[in-house]
Amino acid sequence: DEERAALVQPSVWLELSQLMMASRLENGGQFENVINTGQGFPDWPSPEFVRQAAADIFLDAANAPRTSVYSPTRGITPFLSALCAEYGPRIKQKLDPQRNVCVTVGASQAIQLCMQAFLNRGDEVVLIEPFFDLYRAAAMLSHATIRSVALQLRSPPASAQRQSNACDFVLDMAAFESCFNENTRVLVLNSPHNPTGKMFSRDEYSAIMRVLRKFPKVTVVSDEVYEHITFDDHEHVPFASISEEAFARTVSIYSAGKTFSCTGWKVGWLIAPPALISRAALIQQWIVFSVCTPLQAALANIISRAREPYEGHENYYAWLKAEYTRKRDIQVRMLAGASLRPVVPMGAFFVMADTARVESSMELHTLPPRVAELEKQGLVTIDASTRARRDYNLVRRLILEYGVSAVPPSAFYAEANHEQGANLLRFSFCRSDGALLEAGQRLQKLF
Ligand code: PMP
Ligand code: GLN
Repeated sequence: DEERAALVQPSVWLELSQLMMASRLENGGQFENVINTGQGFPDWPSPEFVRQAAADIFLDAANAPRTSVYSPTRGITPFLSALCAEYGPRIKQKLDPQRNVCVTVGASQAIQLCMQAFLNRGDEVVLIEPFFDLYRAAAMLSHATIRSVALQLRSPPASAQRQSNACDFVLDMAAFESCFNENTRVLVLNSPHNPTGKMFSRDEYSAIMRVLRKFPKVTVVSDEVYEHITFDDHEHVPFASISEEAFARTVSIYSAGKTFSCTGWKVGWLIAPPALISRAALIQQWIVFSVCTPLQAALANIISRAREPYEGHENYYAWLKAEYTRKRDIQVRMLAGASLRPVVPMGAFFVMADTARVESSMELHTLPPRVAELEKQGLVTIDASTRARRDYNLVRRLILEYGVSAVPPSAFYAEANHEQGANLLRFSFCRSDGALLEAGQRLQKLF
């Protein structure tokens, strides 16, 4: 059917990696590596205490009979206990390891699981655009109908004399409320937000809660994978922490990958009230049954260790924040220097940049000839609906001609709104300082 057909389109991630591979082969080393400021994953090794914790578990012969076998579906007790100790105070709840947590294969599978657990065919899901593209695909796999509303990027008032920042992405509450009806069952929230770097404030969340009060059947799926990557004075607010009534209907999603720079480990977790966790765990038995036991055992130790002093900082999280703040500042400076007006993020590791000034000399409304050729050779798979998009074609040319990758944000909008991404690109700064500086140099050549 139509939903399934849409799902078999290649994702933006597939095309980007194919283009990068092709560029490497074709340029014969001109850019030994395309600088991947596109797909977001830290490109440095995870911290030594993280790797050491995993090594210790794998080498611990005495405990191997316990750590080498399937875990219970919800997770192993030491990990569940460590998570409850960590999140209880932050969500302002007394969490029970056996009732409030379920471990998943990264946040990706957590999102799929929530959609499977809380949606029936024909139910409706509300998404806020631009959205991480997996939400849409996961909702479609559950045969749900998607309603979405786009954040609007406002220009800062001239009198403010400042750069745009992610606070300028605002949610029109009337438009938001109009997405809801008696069939709505899930609202997906994401803060710090991929791709804008916006962080929702307590006030914004209270306004969202006021709308939800009118729709008691809606479960909130709150994707907080960037919880520890925040800048300046912006404080991460878990939606579940704003009130008892918010907690009662929220599933919060977290991932080790972003926090501990180990995206390949693919371990995530849900925190929610017992009724919502029971429902998710019931479905989880039938999907993965259980998640990698030794990595859960390692993460139990890692999560406790992360609160201890680290590299001259109060704890590991303070260090992480300082590292990412420096990288954000480099990327913002490089983009501004290349005349790609950056929207300074409040959190997460992405910068949206305004590319409106890249003009005329570049034909951006048709597939670049080299890409068409690669497609003909079967080296690149293109989602047909993106062939004429400005942001996609700019990215295609950036990769092949400039040696820099970015993500076309129209991938993160509903079909009806994709034009809103046309003049933007998403750059990620989870890269070495050297790579960020070099990408900035290469982008200068755009003008
Ligand atoms: N949610 C968001 C907002 C993300 O950016 C990502 C990473 N791309 C995920 C979920 C998936 O996380 P994981 O790698 O843990 O599956
Ligand atoms: N979350 C990352 C990003 O948005 C990686 C993409 C993915 O997991 N599919 O770039």
